[in-house]
Amino acid sequence: MHSSEPLIASLTSVQARIAQAARQAQRDPQSVHLLAVSKRQSAQAIRALYQASCQVSAQPIIAFGENYVQEALAKQAELQDLPLEWHFIGPIQSNKTREIAQHFTWVHSVDRLKVLKGLAQAARTHAKSLQICLQVNISAEASKSGCAPEEVATLVEAAQAYQDVLCLRGLMCIPAPSTDREIQAQAFARLANLQHQLQQAYSHWPWDTLSMGMSSDLEAAILQGSTWVRIGTALFGARDA
Ligand SMILES: *Cc1c(COP(=O)(O)O)cnc(C)c1O
Repeated sequence: MHSSEPLIASLTSVQARIAQAARQAQRDPQSVHLLAVSKRQSAQAIRALYQASCQVSAQPIIAFGENYVQEALAKQAELQDLPLEWHFIGPIQSNKTREIAQHFTWVHSVDRLKVLKGLAQAARTHAKSLQICLQVNISAEASKSGCAPEEVATLVEAAQAYQDVLCLRGLMCIPAPSTDREIQAQAFARLANLQHQLQQAYSHWPWDTLSMGMSSDLEAAILQGSTWVRIGTALFGARDA
C-alpha cells in the first residue's frame, strides 16, 4: 500500500485549477464536472484516487473515463465494490457497441451513424439508457476521430428514433494540441457555438453538456463553457507508453 499523499496533492491542485477557472468565467465551480481519465492506469490506481477523494471532499470522484473496452471491463470487474460511474471516451469500433452499451453509463465519443444505431440497439437489449455526447472534429484534423461540424445535424436527426434509450446530452471535442491560449479558446468556442445552434433547433434534448478540456487546456475549456473536463495526466501522472 503506497502513500496517498501524491494523489491528494494532484487532486487538490486539479480541483483548485477548475475552481479558479470557473471563478474567472463567473461560473459556479459545481457546474464543471471532473472526469478522471484512467486509461492505462491500474484498477489499484483508480481505487487509490477514489479513496483519496473521499479523504479530501464530501463529493468523492466517482466518474472515470476509459478508452479501451477490454481494459476497462477488466478493471470494472475488480472495482465492483465501489459506486463508480463509467464513461467511454475513446474511438469506437462498431463491433464494440454492445459491450460499451452494457458496461458504461456515458459515451462521449459517438461520431457516426453505425455507432449510434449499434449503441441504441444494444441499450434496448439491456433495457438501459445511455447518456450520449457527439464527438466533433473541431480542428478539422485529417487523422482524427469525430464527425465534421456539418454532419452533426444528421446524427441528431437519426437519434430521434432512439429517444427511448439514448439521451443526447451534448458535444465533445479533442482540439489539435496547442500551447497558445487564444487558439485553444477558438476551438472550444466553435464547439460551444455549435451546441448553441443545436439548443435552438432541437430543444427537446437537454444539450447541457460540453465535454472539453484536458490536463493542458482545462482553463481555456472552462472559460468557453465546458461542463466535463477529462483529466488524466494531471491526476495520475504520466501514463506508461
Ligand atoms: C487520454 C485522454 C484524455 C486525458 O488526457 P490528459 O492530457 O492525460 O489529461 C482526455 N480525453 C480523451 C478522449 C483522452 O483519450
